[in-house]
Amino acid sequence: MGADALRPRREMLAPVTEHSKPTKMAIAARSDNGAPPLISIVAPCYNESETVDLFVGAIDKILADADFVSEIIFVDDGSSDDTRERLSRLAASRDNIRAVVLSRNFGKEAALTAGVDHARGDAVIVMDVDLQDPPELVLDFVRKWRDGYDVVYAAREDRQSDTAAKRATANWFYRLFNKMSAIKIPENAGDYRLMDRRVVEHIKALPERSRFMKGLFAWVGFNSVGVPYVRPERAAGESKFNFWKLWNFAIDGFTSFSTAPLRVWTYFGLLIAVASILYAMVIILQTLIFGIDVPGYASLLVFILFFGSIQMISVGILGEYLARLFAEVKQRPIYIVDDIIGGPQNG
Ligand code: UDP
Ligand code: MG
Repeated sequence: MGADALRPRREMLAPVTEHSKPTKMAIAARSDNGAPPLISIVAPCYNESETVDLFVGAIDKILADADFVSEIIFVDDGSSDDTRERLSRLAASRDNIRAVVLSRNFGKEAALTAGVDHARGDAVIVMDVDLQDPPELVLDFVRKWRDGYDVVYAAREDRQSDTAAKRATANWFYRLFNKMSAIKIPENAGDYRLMDRRVVEHIKALPERSRFMKGLFAWVGFNSVGVPYVRPERAAGESKFNFWKLWNFAIDGFTSFSTAPLRVWTYFGLLIAVASILYAMVIILQTLIFGIDVPGYASLLVFILFFGSIQMISVGILGEYLARLFAEVKQRPIYIVDDIIGGPQNG
């Protein structure tokens, strides 16, 4: 406290910019207040009965002699196996473990939102429960956070643990996303990250129902830094994401952060209009020079089918946005809590 009180006032006004060095204000906020900070670890679980105990074991080992206090917030995202029972047992056995049980499966993004909403830490770490997000990084995250960074994310060095097809589609997704959206998301970052309390408060204040968390994390900004790591295989159980789920997830991402798919049709239409006028001129000239000649059944058919499908695609894209607008307008909650097990019961 003492040293902090003596800092000149103007340092408190230091600007906070994206990807800048930590400000003195941020550094000061992480120290000098006596009590060790509370770090919340948020882990969404969907049918993870095989991994939750492994997860707690790994976290305990890493944090055995940490100089900060921690809590684990599990979110049971409507599991149909015995994940809920296992989480209840864990939550009952210790007061730094809580389980937020959702009323059904709302999806990972909603589960993450629920976990972040229930975390009380000075910093919040979100991570998968299958140990693909290595717990060792937690210590690096906290170190960087104490250095004054507001966001510390895990940057995977390679994707060897993914199949070639998943690697290729992920690459393609990030490249396209970053081209189309004004908000850039780091290509090699997943959800695994630490966020300072003030970042968390901004994320919590975002009202949208469509929770593309990677995008929202990037959207709020603040100074961030990556910690490189190699992503291991799942500790047990299997991935909850198939191709179709990932495809829909990608569409959610694009439509939440870019209007380019809506606007591209205007330009496409203009281009085709110009091409049509040129083609009409060619036909007029041909007729004037060579007289009337009416073959062209095949080319006519191709043009009709082509423009028919282009129109359907553009209407379909309108529909994607309309459907999302509909979901936002309805203002349904992002998730519903069935039960909260364990932890301090005062909030
Ligand atoms: N998950 C969730 N709800 C879902 C799907 C997944 O909470 O509907 C959780 C899952 O339990 C895990 C994390 O999200 O902790 C990542 O899922 P997974 O490991 O299956 O994804 P992958 O690593 O294969 O991308
Ligand atoms: Mg996984």
